[in-house]
Amino acid sequence: MEDQLLVVNCGSSSLKLAVFDQGRRKLVSVLAERLNTDEASARISGTAETIPLPDNGSYERVLAALVEALKTRGILCRDPVAIGHRVVHGGETFRGAALIDDQVVAAIDHCASLAPLHNPVNLAGIAATRALYPEVPQVAVFDTAFHQTLPPKAFRYALPETYYRDWAVRRYGFHGTSHYFMAQEAARLLARTHDTTSIISAHLGNGCSVAAIRNGRSVDTSMGLTPLEGLVMGTRSGDVDPSLFDYLAGKGLSAAEVHKTLNKQSGLLGLSGESNDMRTLCDLAEQGHSGAALAIDVFCFRLARYLGAMTASLTALDALVFTGGIGENSARVRQQTVEHLSLLGITLDSVANARNGADTEGRINAAESRYPVLVIPTNEERVIAEEALRLARSTQSPSTD
Ligand code: ADP
Repeated sequence: MEDQLLVVNCGSSSLKLAVFDQGRRKLVSVLAERLNTDEASARISGTAETIPLPDNGSYERVLAALVEALKTRGILCRDPVAIGHRVVHGGETFRGAALIDDQVVAAIDHCASLAPLHNPVNLAGIAATRALYPEVPQVAVFDTAFHQTLPPKAFRYALPETYYRDWAVRRYGFHGTSHYFMAQEAARLLARTHDTTSIISAHLGNGCSVAAIRNGRSVDTSMGLTPLEGLVMGTRSGDVDPSLFDYLAGKGLSAAEVHKTLNKQSGLLGLSGESNDMRTLCDLAEQGHSGAALAIDVFCFRLARYLGAMTASLTALDALVFTGGIGENSARVRQQTVEHLSLLGITLDSVANARNGADTEGRINAAESRYPVLVIPTNEERVIAEEALRLARSTQSPSTD
């Protein structure tokens, strides 16, 4: 049987495992959701089959149960050759993927103050697979690493220097693995090389961010110290006036309450008063729901503003690229956004856009558009699997390679 790779993605309330073969094909994935609640459940992707979870749902125990389920179903037949972990925050320490050892674990822990909801659960996943597979090389792939090439003018806030020096306050950016994937795939589709390809990429899922990628390297992005900055998202506000905290303190709200509202009750949900889900909002807007229409308008306008802003970091543009659940599937959002960019000469082909680029190798721009526009389904797991394999191989002696 062919060697396999395991990809682990521990979120704040979910845990996803994916098994890849070395031809970069995903064989199967399992998803455990609503962890730490009474409704915790797990299932194998593409099936209705559920996997029983342990009562005490620590990440270690849930992960062990999912691995066991993959083993008993004959999906994971022997030890994987490498295990890749998604880790949210690598601070300034990690500029690329890292082979995990005790020092790397300590460094990820050190970055946890920047991502208190994420890095600790990422570490729990790492501890669990290290216990299950002590001999297998494990690799951490960071959401922030791809953006470590941002120049200071793009990553520094106009704040006292001591905030940066003493407290690491700067813009980091996230979704780096997805932006990297878009740059790679765009280069392939345009028959160019990665390091001569410049794109503006828009990752539009529940979280949303754009990036300017110049000759294969990230040079600007919309998320900042945390994933709250930038675009309007499912439940996140994106940019607001920082004085909002002080203003709302005057209305009796604590910083923690405002922070929670900006992260959990704002964005599409806050604007529409109905839903954080773009598909639901598009349906409602078509039925005449004004809140849903407003939410989509603000979402697209803010996105277009940021796409325009990204041009400040580029001297050439090979493509504008859309990905994520919204970017890949919503013709309405893409069309409405691009309408704000007429000054850039970007126009869409309505048929190709309606088909999400399915028959046109991802291309959705009109023939007369000044720049190509592509829809590229993201595949962060595949990048993590590739990075895990690459670093695991780099540790092997030539005779075992
Ligand atoms: P996550 O960031 O959690 O991985 P996804 O990338 O799956 O999320 O994106 C989820 C978003 O994609 C939701 O807002 C969902 O409504 C939206 N979406 C998925 N399909 C469509 C569609 N056909 N039209 C509009 N929005 C869609």
